[in-house]
Amino acid sequence: MNEPMTTTNNALLVMATNNAHKLSEVRQILENRFLVKGLTEIGCHEDIPETADTLEGNALQKAHYVHEHYHVDCFADDTGLEVEALNGAPGVFTARFGEMNGYGESHDANANIQCLLDKLTGQSNRRARFRTIIALILDGEEHLFEGVVEGIILEAKVGVGGFGYDPIFAPLEADGKAFAEMKAADKNKISHRGRAIEKLCCFLQSNRNNNNKL
Ligand code: IMP
Repeated sequence: MNEPMTTTNNALLVMATNNAHKLSEVRQILENRFLVKGLTEIGCHEDIPETADTLEGNALQKAHYVHEHYHVDCFADDTGLEVEALNGAPGVFTARFGEMNGYGESHDANANIQCLLDKLTGQSNRRARFRTIIALILDGEEHLFEGVVEGIILEAKVGVGGFGYDPIFAPLEADGKAFAEMKAADKNKISHRGRAIEKLCCFLQSNRNNNNKL
């Protein structure tokens, strides 16, 4: 049994991730207005189950796990790439798309990208969107926030920045540039995750103003 942690005095909020990149992105957007800790920082080293068949379900599953086991206010995110010509796939399977289709390991960005490019060979409809869901458990109550960025899947990889599908995803509002060609701060301003985090941040801020706590 893990020790309960209080949140009222130190405004601690746990993000259910060990991904340093995500944590720094979140901290940048929240601009130190909240003390955000990752899983390792609260001593959580378990593999948190992520077995739902929707982004909402996975985000809630992760957030509830941390809340129930560590007694903290926390949030978790889940992201999917939804490709119009593939009827919304890979969606909740975005991280494992390549592996599921025999292209390599789970979370292997090159395998995922090659798989998607092959599936779209000869396809003129390249429209896609990234969608992030953030599930927040605050004072035991669930709240969901969604961030979306619309774009197109390029014919080949470009750029060297970012991660995942960034070399083949060009947001509509970036003049044809792929995420991988943008500065991190510029990507964060329009990205699915950036937008979901902004909504989370607005909610936390108004909640703090109303309740004089986290
Ligand atoms: P997660 O839910 O944040 O782990 O995202 C699931 C998968 O979506 C990741 O493994 C990446 O392949 C992909 N992904 C999520 N966010 C991004 C992004 O900002 N750029 C490119 N790929 C992303």
